Amino acid sequence: MTTICPACRSNCLYLHSPVQGFPFLSGSYNFLSCSSCGHTHISFKPQSNLYNNRESSTNYNKQGPFLFIKSLLFRFYANKYILPVVDFIPVSDSFNILDYGCGSGELSNSLITLLRSRYKLNRRCRLYAFDLQESPPNCLERAVTYLNPSSLKIHTNKFDCIILRHVLEHIDLLDDCILELHSLLNYNGKILIEVPNGDSSWRSILGYLWPGYFFPYHFHVFTEKSLWHLLNRHHLQVERIFYPNPPLFGVFANNFIRSRGLCKFISIFLYPLQYAFSRLTNSSEAILFVLGHSNK
Ligand SMILES: [Zn+2]
Repeated sequence: MTTICPACRSNCLYLHSPVQGFPFLSGSYNFLSCSSCGHTHISFKPQSNLYNNRESSTNYNKQGPFLFIKSLLFRFYANKYILPVVDFIPVSDSFNILDYGCGSGELSNSLITLLRSRYKLNRRCRLYAFDLQESPPNCLERAVTYLNPSSLKIHTNKFDCIILRHVLEHIDLLDDCILELHSLLNYNGKILIEVPNGDSSWRSILGYLWPGYFFPYHFHVFTEKSLWHLLNRHHLQVERIFYPNPPLFGVFANNFIRSRGLCKFISIFLYPLQYAFSRLTNSSEAILFVLGHSNK
């Protein structure tokens, strides 16, 4: 068991109250929290078969009303957070974006549509999607180039923009991941990292059922302070911070309901309540850092 905080490297860890397994797992599991930066992480690595069951579910159907709504939401997201960053990156004759941890490819699919219409006339723009599985997920658009762990390695200093949307919390060894991102990013490039916000007011209300824990799939719960410590240690400079509010109650409903469709419906139905409460309490469900190489 580690005794040092993986975010700020202090040795101020204490045992956090147990978190229920998700979904439908019996028993509860211990987490460690850091009294210095507020970071929380699991006290042991879960068995890989338990972990992989969920992570390999990236090949679901391309059809369905909820996928259409999700694709609209991802377009809204890309328009609001990603394209403004992309617009300001100096480019030469080509431009490469990486969706790191693409999952089923929903974000990449929305992004490629937007990039096509926005940059086709004045930039040679290419979108790559990376994840752990060997071959591309079924739903991934053909215009997106899929990379697996072995094909990713050859792309040193290649990317002008790397996006990790709700990915970093799934990665056990944070330092190794950030070092890899460093090696993939070109000199003027930007990294966008979004994670669940450990300072969320919904966390204090929902307790161990708060979706940010998402045991055993999330290894870490970041706070703004802990994420800043981690990135600063690796000489990544925080240039902007956003506070998005991704839907919460679909994942929460997954604790009790097996139907994915019903969970998505609940998520959308309750979103106005979730959003209003977050605004009233001046908190957000996620934090999004825009980062560049530090000159230090
Ligand atoms: Zn810490």
